[in-house]
Amino acid sequence: MVNEKRGLPSFFMTGSCAEFYFPPLRRLLEEYILQTKGEEVNLAEDSNARFKAVQENTHVVVSFFDLRTQAYHEKILKLVFGVSDYWYHYEFAKSRGQIHWHQLSWREDRQPHQLLHEAREDGCEEEEYAARLSQWADETFAMTALHPAGNDEEGQPRKDLWPPPEGTAEPISDDRDPLVKMLMQIAATQDAILEDHLLLVNRVGLHSCSDYCLRTPRHPEQGLQPRERICRMEFGSEFHPGKKVHSNPEIVEDHNGAPRLEMPRDHPRVVQHSRYQLQSNGNVPVVSGGSTHATWPLNEDYCRTMLLLHWPSWFDIQEVKGDTQSWIDRFKDFFASDDCPTFVKAQVAKARRYADHPQEPVFEEDEEDDAVEAEEQPDWVDVYAGRTKYMRV
Ligand SMILES: [Zn+2]
Repeated sequence: MVNEKRGLPSFFMTGSCAEFYFPPLRRLLEEYILQTKGEEVNLAEDSNARFKAVQENTHVVVSFFDLRTQAYHEKILKLVFGVSDYWYHYEFAKSRGQIHWHQLSWREDRQPHQLLHEAREDGCEEEEYAARLSQWADETFAMTALHPAGNDEEGQPRKDLWPPPEGTAEPISDDRDPLVKMLMQIAATQDAILEDHLLLVNRVGLHSCSDYCLRTPRHPEQGLQPRERICRMEFGSEFHPGKKVHSNPEIVEDHNGAPRLEMPRDHPRVVQHSRYQLQSNGNVPVVSGGSTHATWPLNEDYCRTMLLLHWPSWFDIQEVKGDTQSWIDRFKDFFASDDCPTFVKAQVAKARRYADHPQEPVFEEDEEDDAVEAEEQPDWVDVYAGRTKYMRV
């Protein structure tokens, strides 16, 4: 299709590798270590050994990820996302050495360009363009920016199912955490699937600004307080976080001036996503997730994520943290111990340094482009990985 000059790609996509979570990769590494070193390791149970195995056998990880990416193209991208042609290349993240890919994808039906072309032929106003594009994304990918909690009988959002600060939902208890469940554990009933979607959005589908996304504008901007930073992911600014709620789809310009579809939104922080993408990640077990970016002061989400990821060989969450202690307090003990990986210590030190000296930029200027690309992906993508991260329609 590229050579036939049949038009622009339909999507830009990115996929990354959840090397600590793919069960087949674990088994492969166990077998490899057994055959090459004669050592028996249990990578499902021993997280230290898992970390070491991944670090020392990147050639195995990369080969596995390559095969998995090829299978993903054949089995998911073509069938679910209607992609007929694609071009991708692998990159390795500077900070973690982690393999990932970026891709251009063409659909056989040449959407969404075909429908945009027709809208122009029909003499549509921008509103109608947005409506048609939004309908297509909804019907084709179950794409949405609405909170899955839905509305009550009076048509008001069910804020009792939204987490604070916008709503009043109780925190998700550890035994209901959708991130420590595999999809195969979710009953195939409408209610169970809907609840899973709700929990996933509450857990990982709400954008929270942090030092990670907030940037000092290069030029003064109206309406901002002195030194107020703005969110690169278009979720408002430091003191006015979130997007505006609206009931009709809109085409808006992002900070690079590129037009972007904003689907109807009833919650200021829901990340526009495809429900298929969020839920239907087959055999990838969904562990951890949450925030992987340190903030200072420390927050519960980061501490919890780091503890669950790096606490040596835990079976039961009780082993990591008792009921009486907060994740932050538990993390402080862990942080002081030798079990805490050096890079976690470095992340925290960096966040603390930045909080103490906010005038120093966290990233070098020339790192910006790569960093932006790598960072624009939501946290949960690391967990779901090997999948499309990003679909801009
Ligand atoms: Zn943000």
